[in-house]
Amino acid sequence: MEINLISDTVTKPTEGMLKAMLNAEVGDDVFGADPTVNLLQEKVAKLFGMEAALFFPSGTMANQVAIKIHTQPGDKMFCDKWAHVYNYEGGGAAFNSGVTSHLIDGDRGMFTAEQLEKAALGRGDIHVPFNRLVCIENTTNKGGGACWDFEELIKIGKVSRANNLAYHLDGARLFNALVAKNETPKQYGELFDTISICLSKGLGAPVGSVLVGTNEHIEKALRVRKLFGGGMRQAGFLAAAGIYALDNLVDRLAEDHSRAKAIGAVLENCSYVKKVEPIETNIVIFYVNDAIDPMDFIKKMEQKRILLISMGDGKIRIVTHLDFTDDMLAVLLEELKLF
Ligand SMILES: *Cc1c(COP(=O)(O)O)cnc(C)c1O
Repeated sequence: MEINLISDTVTKPTEGMLKAMLNAEVGDDVFGADPTVNLLQEKVAKLFGMEAALFFPSGTMANQVAIKIHTQPGDKMFCDKWAHVYNYEGGGAAFNSGVTSHLIDGDRGMFTAEQLEKAALGRGDIHVPFNRLVCIENTTNKGGGACWDFEELIKIGKVSRANNLAYHLDGARLFNALVAKNETPKQYGELFDTISICLSKGLGAPVGSVLVGTNEHIEKALRVRKLFGGGMRQAGFLAAAGIYALDNLVDRLAEDHSRAKAIGAVLENCSYVKKVEPIETNIVIFYVNDAIDPMDFIKKMEQKRILLISMGDGKIRIVTHLDFTDDMLAVLLEELKLF
């Protein structure tokens, strides 16, 4: 038995999801004629109480298109130093949009309204870029699945509006946060200008992300998605997986969270573990003692057919997901105790 915990993207479609995909009614979505894609887009827009939504092949493209529609070349975007949009999208903000990233030194991928306010000083001076956009990530990936305090997000929204900044949420794992904190998509829809969500992470779809926003933003995004090469044809087969996931696989995220917490509890008691980051959702980040090379630890686990990943800076990451069962959890916990 292989236990793959490198990401929640490794899941394969469930039987019910495959059936939904096979039965999808499709058309050419570049002409807006795929009924299943349209259904997914309407569903997500409604879920967030926003005007419109657009289906994307990846979260990266959804975020990058959002950055593009909110900015002009030379503008500045604010994000945490650990943000996915800065660290893991191939330098896309600079490459695609000519945007400078101002990195805020947050805590586990989260900063405060006060930090943003300080960072946004100096607007109007000809020496400095135009401040145009704030990107938030919830849950934070490199921050170990941490959830933002919604009150702080409201405050950041106020600072953003006062400074004429667009407010984008990278919600690749937003549903994990919603389940963990008992929040609703509508709360987020009211606060942000645009939100990207991934269907292919904890929700278990094979492919797909959705960007939600106003009609005006989504019309622009449709054009930029085409320009970026993201116009897909009979994408309804993929959209059907997303619809299935939203209808059936959201509440179960709580299981991933409780398995992650069980792993964290065992790691806390392992003598070779230096530190375990607080666990709020489905990501466990921990550090081994200095005497152990983290890459060596990962290699030894791999020999036991347990796959983990390094996140740099000595961080080892475990991500629980739909295809990680209680049987696998039991094996993993034994191996961690024995190591
Ligand atoms: C996975 C992820 C994305 C998008 O990734 P894709 O692999 O392009 O779908 C964006 N932001 C965060 C925080 C992520 O974890």
